[in-house]
Amino acid sequence: MKLIRTILLAGLVLGTAAVTFAAPPSKRIYTSSALRTAEEFQKLKAGDTIAMVCKQCDSVTVQTLESTDEAMKLCKEGETVVCGSCTMTTKVVRHGPRSKAGSHSEIRYENEKGEECMFVAKLEG
Ligand SMILES: [Zn+2]
Repeated sequence: MKLIRTILLAGLVLGTAAVTFAAPPSKRIYTSSALRTAEEFQKLKAGDTIAMVCKQCDSVTVQTLESTDEAMKLCKEGETVVCGSCTMTTKVVRHGPRSKAGSHSEIRYENEKGEECMFVAKLEG
């Protein structure tokens, strides 16, 4: 019974995410709302909902932020972010030129092989 419940829960989470992702039919929310720079993370605030999309296990972990600090941890170089589904650990890596403001570097989540394996997107509404 426990297994069935887990599957149902997983389906529920994925189903909810699918509905949210499908909401604006004209725009591909996967790319348009993916958070790529520290500035974008900085705009997040308590109560915002984010989705951590794991390419390794094709799961979406939905998380409600409790503070901007929590969001900033997700884009701090060297931090590790663990997938809520397959428990794979990814490392926050910044790519691109380091300008004075550091605003043009791109945030990526990589595994130990340096492959991008996760991204974070803000869920609207
Ligand atoms: Zn995963």
